[in-house]
Amino acid sequence: MPARSICRPSRTSSGARRGNLLPRFVAALALACACAAHADDALVSRARELEAALNGFPQRTRSELAALLPRADAAPAGERRHAYALYGQAHVLTGNTADAAELADRLADEAAGTHDPATRATALLIRSAIESTSGDAARSTALAQEAHDLAATAGDDYLRYWAALSLGTSARMLGQPEVALANLQEALSLAEAAGDPYRRSTALYQLSVLQLTLKNGPAALAASLAAYRDGDAARSAYAMVNGRIAESAVMELLERPARELAAMEEALAIARTARSEVAEARALVNLSDIRLRRKQYAEALELARRSLQLSQSTGNPVLVATSKANAGFALLGLGRIAEGKRLTDESLTEYERTGATAEIAELIGEYGRSLEDVGDYKGALALYHRERKLNDEIAIQTRQRALLEVQEKYETAQRRREIELLNRENELKTVEIANRVQIQRIWWLLAGLFAASFVVVALLYRKLRQTNALLAGKNAELSVQSTRDPLTALYNRRYFQNFIDAGAAHPDRTHRNGDNLTSALLLIDIDHFKETNDRFGHAIGDAVLVAVADRLRATLRDTDIVVRWGGEEFLVYAATKADRIDDIAARILRAISAQPITLGDQVVRTTLSIGYMALPLPPTSAPLSWDRAIGLVDMALYMAKVNGRNRAYGIKRLVRDDGEDLAAVERDLERAAESGLVEMQVLYGPIPASGVSANVPTFDETGPLPQERPPGMAVT
Ligand code: GH3
Ligand code: MG
Ligand code: MG
Repeated sequence: MPARSICRPSRTSSGARRGNLLPRFVAALALACACAAHADDALVSRARELEAALNGFPQRTRSELAALLPRADAAPAGERRHAYALYGQAHVLTGNTADAAELADRLADEAAGTHDPATRATALLIRSAIESTSGDAARSTALAQEAHDLAATAGDDYLRYWAALSLGTSARMLGQPEVALANLQEALSLAEAAGDPYRRSTALYQLSVLQLTLKNGPAALAASLAAYRDGDAARSAYAMVNGRIAESAVMELLERPARELAAMEEALAIARTARSEVAEARALVNLSDIRLRRKQYAEALELARRSLQLSQSTGNPVLVATSKANAGFALLGLGRIAEGKRLTDESLTEYERTGATAEIAELIGEYGRSLEDVGDYKGALALYHRERKLNDEIAIQTRQRALLEVQEKYETAQRRREIELLNRENELKTVEIANRVQIQRIWWLLAGLFAASFVVVALLYRKLRQTNALLAGKNAELSVQSTRDPLTALYNRRYFQNFIDAGAAHPDRTHRNGDNLTSALLLIDIDHFKETNDRFGHAIGDAVLVAVADRLRATLRDTDIVVRWGGEEFLVYAATKADRIDDIAARILRAISAQPITLGDQVVRTTLSIGYMALPLPPTSAPLSWDRAIGLVDMALYMAKVNGRNRAYGIKRLVRDDGEDLAAVERDLERAAESGLVEMQVLYGPIPASGVSANVPTFDETGPLPQERPPGMAVT
């Protein structure tokens, strides 16, 4: 006798009954979330509670989610998405497919406006759940696949878990066990990473059903037991019931009827204790299936009736249809043909309402065989024709779907490429912006460095200029110090030496006679200066030296060289016309002795003695070295001294231009003058006014000046 259960995989070849209702149904239920708890912690934990309650109490949970949505709208995107995902699933579980579709559309529109892949994936997964409930595994799988791809790039853990679970479940229903296994394993890993026992239990239950499909008893059993344990840990009666339902199915496969029945009865007991009508209805449907297979029609009928009652009150269309089918088959088994046919027909109508064509065709086949069993051949034949027609339709639909699938695959691939391109473009733009910011930063840095170095260079430049100015000042000071006499500020002997070294080694060559220009060399010595010191003190002596220097400077031109030659000796080298040389000597004598030097209340009368000559010494044009020239004026000075002081002795000219004569003059000027070899000039300084004076000529020297002209000497 055919029967229907919830949980067992399809065994269409045997024609005995269909068992894929539960897995497909669970696919619709197996929607969960990974919550990104941030701003509203209370919302996050409430959403998790509702997630675990959703499958067991879909009606109540739907109302509670509806009340939670305004709060979710104000929460961060991830939390809000979680609430809407659960709400969409609640619509599907309570048979409100239209509401679920409308919500999916709304989310898809929102995602298109904000270019938000996570929200788009949420919309796709709600649609996938709708397709799964209506029995379109291919469409359900395609939608879940697209959502899975988007979730991978969106980086939302909740979405990744949900997408992997949905894809794994729908791929199994589509007959793609490898895809199913990979995705259910992924869902399990994500649930483990999130540390969520409810999600783990859900993934394990799906894995158990998959292993059952693959006839892998031990693996299916292990998964079902683990699903039960995790359900227990999560305190979810629904998950525990699923664990036991799966275990019972494994026991059927392993042909352990006692354990098969015991596990299912335990599932029923758990559901009843928890007062989950959905879970209870599921256990009852499966129990009625077991009884039908064991031809215990009365028990099967009773169980199916109770499951029908419960599933009608929960509004689950699939459970309603399955319960009616099982009740119908039980009645047929009991020989209550008319009643059985009525219920089975009703079940068919319910199935037709879900649009699951393959289910309907299979149910019709089973129905036909049941009628055949009870001898209603006419009814069986009619159903056979109906089944064939439906199968033809399915074949056409399958072909169309295959075409659609190809198209969809192409479009999905295209969309995926577009998404990849967009992502790549985004990445490039991000890198470009980052580069631009970096370049801007470098420019600012360079500008800053440039400004800073400019300031440093400017400061260094200023410092350098200051240092140079200081150095120049110091150099000038040094040069003054090295060439000037510190007391009188006249040139010192070193200066004069440098002057000679710089090209005036032969003084008589420094001027050309052609323009009647010549030079005068004068050696000057203060008379009786020792007495000035003795009488007035050394300080006054110094002051007298300064005053004499000042008067010399004032008397001579700026271009004349005035040198402090020794203690109270001065040397003058002046360019002048040949006939002005005596005048220079006379002016100097006057400048010093005409007026006494007044220092405070001290009045010092001072005279000088001078020896001088013209350079070159006429009439000779023979070179005369500086040493020899200075030697000559020194001898003339000596003559001025010994002849009475306060006078100047000038060597005017050699009588003959003769080297021998010159040598004689240099040997002894006085004698040479007496011998008439040289022409000399004597100039007298003014006689200082009487008064206190250190260097007023002593008695014998102040006597009458020689009136007779000494031989070879001119007297002025
Ligand atoms: P004369 O007429 O023969 O030249 O007699 P004099 O005393 O000037 O000659 P003498 O050479 O014997 O003495 C020169 C003196 O000049 C000796 C020295 O003390 C003094 N004297 C030299 N240099 C300085 C100086 O810088 N300051 C002062 N106050 N005296 C100086
Ligand atoms: Mg002297
Ligand atoms: Mg002297």
